[in-house]
Amino acid sequence: MKLTVDDIKLLQVPVPYPVRATNCYLMPGADGWDLIDTGAHTKEAEDVWQKALDQYGIKPGMLRNIYITHYHPDHIGMAGWLLDQVGGAIYMHRVEAQWVPQVWAPAMPQAIAVADEFRRNGMSEQWAGAIETQFGEQFLDVSPLPEHIELLEDGDLVDYGDAELRVVWTPGHSDGHMCLWQEDIQTVFTGDHILTKITPNIGLWPGCQPDPLDLFLASLEKIQRLSAEHYLPGHGRSFSRDDHRIEELLAHHQERLDLVEGLASEPKTGFEVCVSLFGTKLSAHQMRFAMAETLSHLERLRQLGRVSVVDDGTVVRYCTTRLGS
Ligand SMILES: [Zn+2]
Repeated sequence: MKLTVDDIKLLQVPVPYPVRATNCYLMPGADGWDLIDTGAHTKEAEDVWQKALDQYGIKPGMLRNIYITHYHPDHIGMAGWLLDQVGGAIYMHRVEAQWVPQVWAPAMPQAIAVADEFRRNGMSEQWAGAIETQFGEQFLDVSPLPEHIELLEDGDLVDYGDAELRVVWTPGHSDGHMCLWQEDIQTVFTGDHILTKITPNIGLWPGCQPDPLDLFLASLEKIQRLSAEHYLPGHGRSFSRDDHRIEELLAHHQERLDLVEGLASEPKTGFEVCVSLFGTKLSAHQMRFAMAETLSHLERLRQLGRVSVVDDGTVVRYCTTRLGS
C-alpha cells in the first residue's frame, strides 16, 4: 500500500516553553510504531502521551524506533519515560548524541558555562544568574534520559512504519540536528531547522561549532535542494514549498547580519547589541536564546571580516571593521 501524508499521526505535546507544544510524528507499520520527537517531560506531557498510547493501542513492545531530531528538552525530554512505558530504541545523529551527556548532567555544567560566556560578553549578573538557574532547572524536563542512543549518519536510511526515511544532517540550530526525508511523499520532517511562526534559534553556545549561523545557512540550502513539497516542523503548523519559508529564512538572516553590523559601528558588547535587538522584556529562557542568537550573528560577521573583536581580558567587544584603518 502506498504511503500518504495522512498516514502520519501528529501528536502535539504541551511543553513549558514559549513554543507551547512540540509536534511528535507517529507512524504505524506491520511490525510496530515509529516516532519522531517526544516533547519535554512534564506531568501534562505524560497525560497527553498516555492518552495517545491508549488511543492507538500502543502496548509495551509495540514502539520500535524513536528518532530525536536534536538534544533540546522539548524533543528528547519524554524519550526515557516512553522507553519505560512501551520500550523502543532511541536514534540520533552521531554528533548530536555527544551533546546529550555534555549538557544533560545533574550538575548542569553547560548552564554554568553559558552564564560565564554571557558574562564575558557583557551580560549583567542579574540576567546571567537568572539564566544559569533557569537552564539548570531544565534537567528535570529530560529526566530520565535514555541510557543508550543508536547513532545515525547523514544519508542513513531508517524504518518509518512500512516506509523509510533518509537522515539529513542539518547543523545550525544545534551541531548534530537532523531532518528526516520521505521521498515517496515528498515530505521533510524539519525538527527545529525550519519553523513557520518563529525563526529557528541559531545560537553560539559554549562547545558548539565556531560559526553555527554559517552552518545553518548551508543546511537550509541543503534542504532547499531536496525541493520537497511538504514540511512537517517540530513546532507550529506544517507548510508547503509554495510558502517559500526557506527563502524567507535565508533573507531574514542576511538582513539581521546587516542590522547587527550597523549596531556595532561603535565598540559594543554582545549584551548591548542583544538588548538593542530584543529589548529586556524577556524571560530568562528567552534572554538566553536572544543572547546566543546575537552572538552567532556577531561571530558570522567576524568570520566574514565585517566586525573585529576587542578583548580586554574581562569583557569582549565587537566593532565594525573600518577598511584602511
Ligand atoms: Zn524545539
